[in-house]
Amino acid sequence: MEFSHFLIKYGEIAVKGKNRNVFEDALGRQIRIALKRVDGSFVVEKKTGRFYVHCQGEYDYDGAVEALQKVFGIVGICPVYVFDDEGIESLKEHTCDFVDRMYSDKDFTFKVQARRGNKRFPLNSMEINADVGEALLMRFPELRVDVHKPDVTIYIEVREAIYVYSTIIPGAGGMPVGTAGKAMLLLSGGIDSPVAGVRIAKRGAYLEAVYFHAPPYTSERAKEKVVDLARIMSAYTGGFKLHVVNFTDIQMEIYEKCPHEELTIIMRRYMMRIAEAFAQKSDCLGLVTGESIGQVASQTMHSLRATNEVCTLPVYRPLIGFDKQEIIDEAEKIGTFETSILPYEDCCTIFVAKHPVTKPDPAVIRESEKKLADVIDEMVREAVDTAEEIRISPQ
Ligand code: ATP
Ligand code: MG
Repeated sequence: MEFSHFLIKYGEIAVKGKNRNVFEDALGRQIRIALKRVDGSFVVEKKTGRFYVHCQGEYDYDGAVEALQKVFGIVGICPVYVFDDEGIESLKEHTCDFVDRMYSDKDFTFKVQARRGNKRFPLNSMEINADVGEALLMRFPELRVDVHKPDVTIYIEVREAIYVYSTIIPGAGGMPVGTAGKAMLLLSGGIDSPVAGVRIAKRGAYLEAVYFHAPPYTSERAKEKVVDLARIMSAYTGGFKLHVVNFTDIQMEIYEKCPHEELTIIMRRYMMRIAEAFAQKSDCLGLVTGESIGQVASQTMHSLRATNEVCTLPVYRPLIGFDKQEIIDEAEKIGTFETSILPYEDCCTIFVAKHPVTKPDPAVIRESEKKLADVIDEMVREAVDTAEEIRISPQ
């Protein structure tokens, strides 16, 4: 069956009180953005506390559903059959036609669940349920009613027009992007950070991202992989800016001057400092990383304390309590996994020590960093000033 409309359901709990307008405006905007990349022409309307997508003419149904499933804030996507309100007889007939076209095999149990938004309709919802249920049983004798656990629920909404549907495709949940502040994601080419970024966007944050590369030790292809990951993410997060920072000189300097077992921690501290410089420039309210306790030496609680010490903004680590397998499952779900595992070198692994410290003492690390004092501020400034800015948009 072809559908000319989608009814979009969103989480009622999130939209109580004065947040409602902010939530709905952001949701409408994100739905429109998502549908821009789908073949077809769509009009998105908010009516009586609901969103309707009116699909005009031919359109890519699967593409539309897939795009809508990536919009945070949506809990359900219902392809609806819409017709004019011409009284109960016409409503019965249209609903029977709907069931006929949707289900060639009618050996199932059902119930009708009507909602009368238009109080001028002469029957109340209980009466509509009874009348339409009876009409369905008369036309399709194989059907059986089960009001407790039906196989199929036929929803009918009587408003200025009448909307009938029986499918609720699950949405992504969360809050529409744009209802929280902006956050700066440290995006590597690995498995974790894309998942972390999408998780933060799911709570309504706009993203911006920073990627550190170390040419010629890391290749152009490694950078392209990060851009590809960012593009996949942007179907959920909306378009965003990616800052690509040349980190080679800073890494070399740390490598030459500091104890090798502390390299990773010191390098991580400079990544955080530089990310924070971009965050401040773009009015971000926090940093985001893909760290998870104990995953590697640089993510023990001791190491995280040492890394965290240099940040003044909050650092959001949405994966902090996740096992690797849980992160992989989510990467597969959002579609970043296959790209993340492509084998390109990462700047962190190039200068890595054989036996990195797992319990760094922040005081000792601070002492080691003093060896960089005469050049490092200038190098950081240079890295920020010469960063390449790439505009990422969903494809
Ligand atoms: P990921 O899979 O996200 O790369 P990881 O398990 O490889 O994580 P680390 O390399 O220790 O872990 O990195 C921890 C976090 O630091 C990453 O999740 C990411 O947020 C950030 N990070 C690491 N390397 C880079 C990089 N080259 N550019 C930007 N951020 C990075
Ligand atoms: Mg990594």
